[in-house]
Amino acid sequence: MKRRQILAAAGVGLAATALVGCNKEAETTAKPQEGAGGETFNWKMVTSWPKNFPGVGVGAERFAKLVEAMSNGRLKVKVYAAGELVPALEVFDAVSRGTAEMGHGAPYYWKGKVPAAQFFCALPFGPNAQEMNAWLHRGGGMQLWEEVYKPFGVLPMACGATGVQTAGWFNKEINTVDDLKGLKMRTPGLGGEVLTKMGGTVVNMPAGEIFTALQTGAIDATEWIGPYNDQALGLHKAAKYYYTPGWQEPNVLFELDINLKAWETLPADLQAIVRAAARDVNGDMLDDYNSRNMEAMEQLKGEGVDVRRLPDEVLAKLKEVAAEVVDATAAADPAASKVWAQQKAYLQRMYAYAESNEKDIYNIRG
Ligand code: CA
Repeated sequence: MKRRQILAAAGVGLAATALVGCNKEAETTAKPQEGAGGETFNWKMVTSWPKNFPGVGVGAERFAKLVEAMSNGRLKVKVYAAGELVPALEVFDAVSRGTAEMGHGAPYYWKGKVPAAQFFCALPFGPNAQEMNAWLHRGGGMQLWEEVYKPFGVLPMACGATGVQTAGWFNKEINTVDDLKGLKMRTPGLGGEVLTKMGGTVVNMPAGEIFTALQTGAIDATEWIGPYNDQALGLHKAAKYYYTPGWQEPNVLFELDINLKAWETLPADLQAIVRAAARDVNGDMLDDYNSRNMEAMEQLKGEGVDVRRLPDEVLAKLKEVAAEVVDATAAADPAASKVWAQQKAYLQRMYAYAESNEKDIYNIRG
């Protein structure tokens, strides 16, 4: 009897728990049903890209179309090109203060405000796209990124990657480390700091000014993105040499910024759609770049562009200085320091794994 009473009591307990569970379930599913009933959200997305900009700009527009299609029009995102609502480099601020609910840009554009942002974007001699994505989505990177942006009221998501970039377009031959001294080059981020430390002069300018600056000799060299975007900008018509590899940016990761207060007003199903669309664009943009960079490089070589590899001696010195610059950048900011400590340990494991398997097959395959 006693045993049956206990079992019965336990049964009641279980039933009660199940009931509470059901109610909880009902509560969490209630929101999307309400939303599905008709509530429509019209959001703005400011971007760092000119209108119809190949690769990254088209990716941002694809995100907006995907969200609208997946939500059956319940979340409409209007995309603004750089300068339409806010300038290219003010996307993060605009989302932070709520001028726009969403933004699309490159994390290192806001390094003046958030030094740690650079570590989620690109590191010289650092991770490629698959390594950066593995760290973000499986290695604890996203949690750190959310923590870093939270004080600004911004929720970040990975939303696009360039893959390995190129070292850029030069009107001066680079044969030794000394050839970098006095070199006037457009190159942003940590790569630019490496060049400065090696005696170069770093100049920054928006996309629209690069071609003329290179053609008139205002700068000796520039890096931009990769063959696809570089060809679209016409850089092969303004420089003698195209150098590889893209030591300064083995990948640039782009971000979707979401105003946290606006995010909290979205029903759970629309939040899931935004996350899924960002993940889709994140992978799709890399496919786009990989395929189109290959085609553009074939065309450039076909047109007789002088494609060269930076000498080993130069790459070795750049790598040495890059390690110092990255460590010093992290050490100068508490948040960056925390991110880099965790990221560096993870990446070292990834690089060791790549060394033991993946790199080998690339080298053998040729
Ligand atoms: Ca670049």
